[in-house]
Amino acid sequence: EIGYASIIASSCKGFYTMKMMNRAAPRLVIVIPCYNEAEVFSECLRQLEALLQETQNAGVIRSDSSLLFVDDGSIDTTWEKIEAAAMHYSFVQGVKLSRNVGHQAALLTGLSYAQKSGADAIVSIDADLQDDITAIPKMVAAYQEGYDVIYGVRSSRERDTWFKRISAEGFYKLMALMGVEQVFNHADFRLMSQRALQNLLEYKESNAYLRGLVPLVGFPSTKIYYSRGSRFAGDSKYPLKKMISLAIEGITSMTISPLRIISGGGILISLISVLLIFYIFFLKMMGHTVEGWSSVMLAIFFMGGIQMLSLGVLGEYIGKIYLEVKNRPISHVEKIVK
Ligand code: UDP
Ligand code: MG
Repeated sequence: EIGYASIIASSCKGFYTMKMMNRAAPRLVIVIPCYNEAEVFSECLRQLEALLQETQNAGVIRSDSSLLFVDDGSIDTTWEKIEAAAMHYSFVQGVKLSRNVGHQAALLTGLSYAQKSGADAIVSIDADLQDDITAIPKMVAAYQEGYDVIYGVRSSRERDTWFKRISAEGFYKLMALMGVEQVFNHADFRLMSQRALQNLLEYKESNAYLRGLVPLVGFPSTKIYYSRGSRFAGDSKYPLKKMISLAIEGITSMTISPLRIISGGGILISLISVLLIFYIFFLKMMGHTVEGWSSVMLAIFFMGGIQMLSLGVLGEYIGKIYLEVKNRPISHVEKIVK
């Protein structure tokens, strides 16, 4: 088994030198969104149970700490398994959403539930055990030192497919270029204190992009590095389509840079065309006739393309406003088991 005691001891070492506040052992709630995770559920539960046991025995977390599984409208037996576990173990709770609303909305629902249940510290983690759960005691140690947000950061992700790595890298770079502060190589594996989470939940947008919002909350934060493994079982629940929509969501909800780029591009092209007018006029005066079917066609297609693209980007933002204005609930809870 994994030696949590030694991990806890080593991560507590820094504490005496840090001289930050010393928080009491928290009541920890671990929130786990699950979509069709029947294949990994039992193993996930087994490992998290062992983790809770050991950290409780070591006095690092309170004995009323718990696991909160959020079933995001699974169509396999995930909910049955969660329900059975909740009946059997007092430390397991389950929330069943009425349909699949996606990872971010499911997680947010779980977080607000955990917040209301009076947790002191809340960890969010995926069900597939790709994130190293031994980072959790380290996160708790950092929480006790006084940090409010502790980001789990992937120091290596060899186990991810090359496409996932390249697309993720490109996306983080793109976001950084547009001025969005985001923790590089951090997904939704993090610990938040009660007060940080309470502040996060004050963001009322219905299409929340948590990785972008959490840094906006502020409070003392730190990172814990871990190496990301492969999925314990089953396939990724993030097909390309969901990845793209998460990326668009991330960009449109965090920055209006694309709109600025459009206006910048518009200004640039207008300036160039003014110069061109002078140039053509000059050629005419010199007696040259301007040749030009191909250049005219090119300009038409080029400008047409830019205009369509710009309209599309504008449309994204208008659509976003439309969705936000309606202020629809992000999910519906169908059942709760404690
Ligand atoms: N997930 C979810 N709803 C969805 C898709 C995914 O709750 O619509 C959960 C999934 O069960 C997992 C986490 O989000 O716990 C991350 O998904 P996954 O591991 O498939 O993503 P990847 O690691 O491939 O990016
Ligand atoms: Mg995964």
